Amino acid sequence: MNDVTYNENRLLRRQLRALLNQARTNERKQELFDQFGIEIICATTPNQLKDLLLYQMPARFQLQEVVVCLIDYEHDMEHLFNGQSVESNSQYQHNLLILDAQKHQHQVESLKPFTQLGSQVLDEYEWMFESLNDKQVFKSAALLPLVRSDKLIGALLLISGDSNRYQSSHATTFLQKLSAMTAVAVENCLNQQRIKEISYQDALTKAYNRRYFDLRIQDEIERSLRQGEVLSCMFVDIDLFKQVNDNYGHHIGDIVLSKVASIIKEQVRACDIAARYGGEEFVVALPSTNIELAAEIAERLRSAVSREVYSFYDKNLQVTISLGVASLNPGMGISDEDAESVLRALLEKADRALYRAKENGRNQVVLEAV
Ligand code: GH3
Ligand code: MG
Ligand code: MG
Repeated sequence: MNDVTYNENRLLRRQLRALLNQARTNERKQELFDQFGIEIICATTPNQLKDLLLYQMPARFQLQEVVVCLIDYEHDMEHLFNGQSVESNSQYQHNLLILDAQKHQHQVESLKPFTQLGSQVLDEYEWMFESLNDKQVFKSAALLPLVRSDKLIGALLLISGDSNRYQSSHATTFLQKLSAMTAVAVENCLNQQRIKEISYQDALTKAYNRRYFDLRIQDEIERSLRQGEVLSCMFVDIDLFKQVNDNYGHHIGDIVLSKVASIIKEQVRACDIAARYGGEEFVVALPSTNIELAAEIAERLRSAVSREVYSFYDKNLQVTISLGVASLNPGMGISDEDAESVLRALLEKADRALYRAKENGRNQVVLEAV
């Protein structure tokens, strides 16, 4: 073999090796991407989806940042996506933007319904990452629209520290698949969450129902016993409510009941679990709250309800509530296996305290320590 042929062979072999390496890298990327696609499609809760998109995606695909922007048409996304957990709110605060379709009309209208790549995407959509740190290292980005049933529901902004990573000349099939799958996953998680919320909601007052309370209180009791944390619970019952129905009719009674429920929701804290327990009775679980603080919250609630004036048929109506408060102090040597009976005892004590509040003349708070 002469030198020329030998060198040509060497060159060809090197090129072949490079192509094979490239093919292997692409195959690995494809596998990673397919796996990620399956995971987002399988996500059933907003928290799972947030973790995948905002935490896993940047790590697995070497991205500087990922920003998810969602358009809130039903005014429920903030609640559905962020729930009441302060922790989850703060964690991805700047990477998850929820835009009100009306209030943020300007931003919503600036979102293009097609994939955009390049460094100019960073200029065009600066508002999507203005609260993030280290912006000087952002070099290129991809904006992927999230579309369901011909409607733009949001966008995904993938930010890279490499200026060659996203260029307008690059093929976008891969990214289009990602945006389609993300849109399905967002819609799916939101719908699942909506169904869950409806099944836990009382239809009249929109407060949580007893099923939800029973489920959550179980966890709270177990946590309280495990961590030795104090837990309080209060029963709230509208005074002489039968008279409201008798004097004003059931419809007015319903309006009063709903208003009392919304006052309860306003007065308790985000970490508390307030639910309609039945009829004109509500229950509130107050985690990490001792009986003194629970009493203060109960008193604030009693006062707020008594100050509300309802005007019907040129008449002014006011109602009062009675409250029974009980606390569980797990430092008292209660073991973990007793969760069921501890819960029963706590509710019985709160109920007994409520009974005493009624006996003592209503419109008052009575405390009972477990
Ligand atoms: P007390 O101060 O002892 O609690 O007196 P009360 O009249 O509130 O108690 P009672 O248990 O005798 O009556 C409760 C009333 O609440 C009777 C029931 O018709 C009414 N009620 C229960 N659920 C609803 C509801 O969904 N809508 C309306 N309008 N009334 C309801
Ligand atoms: Mg009552
Ligand atoms: Mg009652």
